[in-house]
Amino acid sequence: LFEYAPAPESRAAAGELASSYGHYIGGEFVESSGKEALKTVDPSTEQVLAEVAQGTDEDVDRAVKAARAAFAGWSALPGAERGKYLFRIARIIQERSRELAVLESIDNGKPIRETRDVDLPLVAAHFFYYAGWADKLEFAGYGSDPRPVGVAAQVIPWNFPLLMLAWKIAPALATGNTVVLKPAETTPLTALRFAEICRQAGLPRGVVNIVTGDGRTGAALTGHPGVDKVAFTGSTEVGRAIARTLAGSRTKLSLELGGKAANIVFDDAPVDQAVEGIVDGIFFNQGHVCCAGSRLLVQESVHDEVIDALKRRMQTLRVGDPLDKNTDVGAINSAAQLARIRELTDAGEAEGAERWAPACELPTSGYWFPPTVFTGVSATHRVAREEIFGPVLSVLTFRTPEEAVAKANNTPYGLSAGIWTEKGSRILWMASRLRAGVVWSNTFNKFDPTSPFGGYKESGYGREGGRHGLEAYLDV
Ligand code: NAD
Repeated sequence: LFEYAPAPESRAAAGELASSYGHYIGGEFVESSGKEALKTVDPSTEQVLAEVAQGTDEDVDRAVKAARAAFAGWSALPGAERGKYLFRIARIIQERSRELAVLESIDNGKPIRETRDVDLPLVAAHFFYYAGWADKLEFAGYGSDPRPVGVAAQVIPWNFPLLMLAWKIAPALATGNTVVLKPAETTPLTALRFAEICRQAGLPRGVVNIVTGDGRTGAALTGHPGVDKVAFTGSTEVGRAIARTLAGSRTKLSLELGGKAANIVFDDAPVDQAVEGIVDGIFFNQGHVCCAGSRLLVQESVHDEVIDALKRRMQTLRVGDPLDKNTDVGAINSAAQLARIRELTDAGEAEGAERWAPACELPTSGYWFPPTVFTGVSATHRVAREEIFGPVLSVLTFRTPEEAVAKANNTPYGLSAGIWTEKGSRILWMASRLRAGVVWSNTFNKFDPTSPFGGYKESGYGREGGRHGLEAYLDV
């Protein structure tokens, strides 16, 4: 038991914010050709942080042309030279990590403890990791002389803005491609700050271009005939729309989409350890995680014990100010996402599942949702089938490992899964039968730049991270 002493991180550490931003094209910050602007708000206060440009078709075209113009020079550089730029970017990210972590927390709503200890270290690690590949591509397993694809269009979501940028930009640049990236409309600020870092690193003009805007800008970019490769992370619905647009075209496509992962707890798992994994699996980043352990499958004989321990643990979670270093659960990223979480949780109750949340005082302004668990859930309930993308756990039970596999695989998604058991043989038996791109055992939500990440089924195709993450950006 310890005294609760709020220790807020300073907002000023985020550095100065302009009141309005244009795009970053050809190594310059430029104004949009259009007049429309979008407001990005701090979701914990609803205060406007800045206005960013709504990228027009003309802006997108200009950025694609800048990336094309830079391609010949960048791809002709020896890999070791490209690697030097990436190492430099990685080091600047480390030097500026406090600033970037605070900026990410205020634009996204996620707790500073996560941006500081998870997001930023991983962002730097991705640049370091792919920097190391730049002069070793002949050993990547894609032939002796793999070539860059060309100009990559990259569209990312709002849940890990800078980390998704790193997953996309680092392998693309290491392999000799140039990029146009569009951040999500609710979290554009760290991508624009990253543009400054590219300048600081002396990256040749046009190698990285950032165009802001909403789905219309995303559609203009992914459908632009001048791009050779599209990499998208976001909802399955938008992923499908992009795949339809690109069907029959020459453009390469990789998709990282939604998930509804099972976190499977057997009766021999240490309960306290499993509960930590369940909490991390669904409440990390407010559950705005594509691979979140949003379905808890617990063996029937230990259901009550696990749920009691889980509820006790949930009562200790601190919900509130993202900049408070003690906060566990921050703000929901947007009013739209909050509305979606509410709609699905209301449906859970209406369909007869039992809803529970610890008593917690939520701030009066901003977008908030308490950590919530549904028990008595059946496989047909919407809370068991649909991705909620919020701090909401749905609990189902099983009796045998066979039943656990069948229930875990009973979803159109296949991004990740977790297994909690002391038996090594059971972990291997389960892992080979789970239709998921990532299977964790006795841990959850562990990421590393050396490991490929990606989905089966409607969770998408292609892999990011590791040696496999190079393939998306290479022609063999
Ligand atoms: P979203 O699909 O609405 O938006 C993602 C991005 O696509 C945004 O930048 C958006 O502006 C852009 N976009 C929207 N419409 C577009 C269009 N027609 N053409 C091109 N781009 C378009 O999703 P979201 O609400 O930002 O993110 C939540 C979803 O993303 C969840 O379903 C989540 O599971 C998924 N996600 C998946 C992964 C993964 O690695 N598989 C990672 C993060 C999020």
